[in-house]
Amino acid sequence: MFCVKCAQPSLVKQGEKAYRCNLCDFVYFHNVAAAVCGVIVCQGQMLLVERAQQPCKGKLDFPGGFVDYNESNEQALKRELFEELQLTINVMQYLFSFPNQYLYKDVLYSTLDNFFEITLHTKPALTLQQEEVSRYLWLDLESVETKELAFASGQAALAEYLIKTGQ
Ligand SMILES: [Zn+2]
Repeated sequence: MFCVKCAQPSLVKQGEKAYRCNLCDFVYFHNVAAAVCGVIVCQGQMLLVERAQQPCKGKLDFPGGFVDYNESNEQALKRELFEELQLTINVMQYLFSFPNQYLYKDVLYSTLDNFFEITLHTKPALTLQQEEVSRYLWLDLESVETKELAFASGQAALAEYLIKTGQ
């Protein structure tokens, strides 16, 4: 691999997540990235989106995304829900987190996906960010199948949530 500092093909893997340059001593840490996911429920139904991009294009997913620099989980989820769905939320409840692997343009990223429950009393009007999500679905909680979900973390989260809510 090429070093991002000296541009030589001198980057050597060192341990689980560190890469060190043999020439200039630069060290790159391929750290875990934080992500947030909204478990949005309303009147016994769950809001899921269909992914418009790889990885897992066409599969269902919880709305959400990666946490930006200097952002909290809560700020990131509010921002992502507004960007993806034009949905404004104020109250969320932390549920649990699950690790995930996210393959993007041939690079494998390890993430920690943080799930928050958002309970709505009425179905909101939503406007999709078409580059990210191709449609949204309200599915009855008892009919959502874990295998329809895009990622291991999402599948684990759905299973855990259904147990937690007694479905
Ligand atoms: Zn270097």
